[in-house]
Amino acid sequence: MPQTTLFPAATIAGYPRIGARRELKRSLERYWAGKIDRATFDSEVSQQVDARISHLKGLGLDGAAAQPADFVPYDQVLTLTCALGAVPQRFGNLVRPDGSLDVDGEFTLARGVDDKAALEMTKWFDTNYHYLVPEIGLYTPIKPVANPWLSQVAAGGKAGRPVLVGPVTYLLGAKPTGDAPAQFNPLDRLDDVLAAFEVFLAQFAAAGVDWVQLDEPGLVRDTWALPRTDVLAAAAKAYDFLGGLSQRPALFVNAPYGDLGSDGREALAGTPIEAIGLDLVAGQVPAAEDLARLEGKTVVAGVVSGRNIWRTDFAAALEKLRQVQAVCPRVAVSTSTSLQHVPHDVAVETAIDPEVRSWLAFADQKIAEVQVLARALADSDSVHEALAENARILETRAKHPGVRRAEVRAATAAVVDGDRTRAPYAERVAAQRVLDLPLLPTTTIGSFPQTAEIRRARAAWRKGEIDDAGYREEIKAEIARVVRLQEDLGLDVLVHGEAERNDMVQYFAEQLEGFATTEHGWVQSYGSRCTRPSILWGDVTRPHPMTVEWSAYAQGLTSKPMKGMLTGPVTIMAWSFVRDDVPRREVADQIGLALRAEIADLEASGIRIIQVDEPAIRELLPLRRAGRAAYLDWSVGAFRLATGGAKTATQIHTHLCYSEFNVVVDAIDHLDADVTSIEASRSKMDILPAVADHGFERGLGPGIWDIHSPRVPKLDEEIGLLEKAVAALDPRQLWVNPDCGLKTRAYPETVATLQNLVAAAKAVRQEIQDQD
Ligand code: GLN
Ligand code: ZN
Repeated sequence: MPQTTLFPAATIAGYPRIGARRELKRSLERYWAGKIDRATFDSEVSQQVDARISHLKGLGLDGAAAQPADFVPYDQVLTLTCALGAVPQRFGNLVRPDGSLDVDGEFTLARGVDDKAALEMTKWFDTNYHYLVPEIGLYTPIKPVANPWLSQVAAGGKAGRPVLVGPVTYLLGAKPTGDAPAQFNPLDRLDDVLAAFEVFLAQFAAAGVDWVQLDEPGLVRDTWALPRTDVLAAAAKAYDFLGGLSQRPALFVNAPYGDLGSDGREALAGTPIEAIGLDLVAGQVPAAEDLARLEGKTVVAGVVSGRNIWRTDFAAALEKLRQVQAVCPRVAVSTSTSLQHVPHDVAVETAIDPEVRSWLAFADQKIAEVQVLARALADSDSVHEALAENARILETRAKHPGVRRAEVRAATAAVVDGDRTRAPYAERVAAQRVLDLPLLPTTTIGSFPQTAEIRRARAAWRKGEIDDAGYREEIKAEIARVVRLQEDLGLDVLVHGEAERNDMVQYFAEQLEGFATTEHGWVQSYGSRCTRPSILWGDVTRPHPMTVEWSAYAQGLTSKPMKGMLTGPVTIMAWSFVRDDVPRREVADQIGLALRAEIADLEASGIRIIQVDEPAIRELLPLRRAGRAAYLDWSVGAFRLATGGAKTATQIHTHLCYSEFNVVVDAIDHLDADVTSIEASRSKMDILPAVADHGFERGLGPGIWDIHSPRVPKLDEEIGLLEKAVAALDPRQLWVNPDCGLKTRAYPETVATLQNLVAAAKAVRQEIQDQD
């Protein structure tokens, strides 16, 4: 048992790395583009690390262990992969004799090179952050080859609590290498990872580190391939081992993103760790008997949300803290998750209505909140003013007229099941024959490349340099160009190209009532990529049509069907910060009704095919099996409310950005769209036979072009993918389209690939006719 200093009374589970002005993004992208050399890059990054440490100190996180040392240049999972030297074989040439990689090697793992594919990316739990999936096999090297956290600890003097992804979560989040035996699970390599952690911990102890944080969100999730009992047994074993070491700092095991569950708490309670972190925003305060098991340990209570941007309700948070304290006297106040999911500072958002802004807390405000709560827990009189002000602000929020609009609540309350139900599919198919589509109709997912001219025009319009009319003319000219291009290419169902949209959620958020958008509220999505989520704060209404002008204009340019293009309710919610004061089901239905009105207006303007994109439906899937039915009920319900008013003859499409069997099957089963497009080219149509076995009659468009890569697939390749699809499904169900929107692609590869796509459809149509 190490000599322990007490855990700090207030801390955060982690802090954004990208920088308040996206400094890290700039350094990374300039370095990758060859605009700065390695020495400049290194010195910029080390300045950012130093600035971050002094910034956090300035905000009051200055105790030895209060400040997380969690900076990584790209991704926290990737950093651990590199520290373990767990490099896939194809990158073997990057590895130095001691098994380590330099930062260029680390970036190559993240971004790929030539024909060596990057590590796969996937969403980190139920967030919009993507981590790089480790590839672990029987013989993958796993050794403590580097300790990238030490330099930060040194930079901050004694201050700094290294934050590492915990060994169990690391392996649960890995995928087996292709050559691993069928029954192999990466968790089989736990002993090797533990041996490496033994070394890391000894190095930390030698450097004078008092506390280390090991993140184990894997323990809040019960949807891994392994049974939960195996996962918890691995956790107990891991922390018995690490806790039993003599050369180590005190261990803080954090379990963010959900409720650890009494079985999870029990597994950790029996181990000699010193502190355990509970997410008390996504999870509940455990019952007293359950908490009693943690006796003797510090409970790090995550009562300030790391996932949303709302000012914390101090009274409610204090109540939770006191419940914990009643059983476990050593309580520390923290955030529920790392603050990496929220922007830096609300003070710079001067364009947000001041009243709405007063309800918000970004990362820096949340750091102040944990400290107030810690003081309040010790002596509530000491922060009497702050508590009173908090209560006052929450009250004004609750009373704001935009937060609760009687007409909106009446409209959602009046929804009946019939509103979510269209005519039977067979009737729809018959009515939709008027569309007169060929076998294997060709289409795209919506966006065409966003040209520099369009971006410039939008920027000029926002700055007031061109007026509304001038901007509209620019957009219309672009739409006309995109329509002509598609006619020349011979596509069957056209799109207007989405030139007017900066972002598929923000575009709608800017036009609906109930949303605010930020100017600087960037959060890291992966690597140097950031998104700027909108803030959904009030009841949602649609003051005016949002897409009709563009779609109707585009339809007027062609006799082919023009697809209307909307973002679905679940995706709008998943990619925004959503209000925490009404159930998500209510919010989803409000958006659903707004989209329903938009669909009616699109129909009235002559649009006969409407796509409602739901690429995010999988992201919000609960981490616990038990929550899934309720989630599917409200998410699917909102989509069906949006689309349920469409005429029988209107063809409703949806689009998902992946091709996991379960998600696709659920979408086709429950969303009841006439046509679903999915990503499929990278997985080479592998799921189609299973999907077909499920017995579907509705339309499916498995993407035959991986738009994440600039590579132009050859005609033969596109034909091959299509032939696989035709072999698996009834050709009458099949659509031919790319994997996703073309917004991030350039025109040359877009034109070349779509030419091939149309030619492939024609070739396979011919093959089918020849067989008949
Ligand atoms: N319609 C959108 C586009 O084409 C869909 C994007 C997405 O699925 N992420 O850009
Ligand atoms: Zn997509």
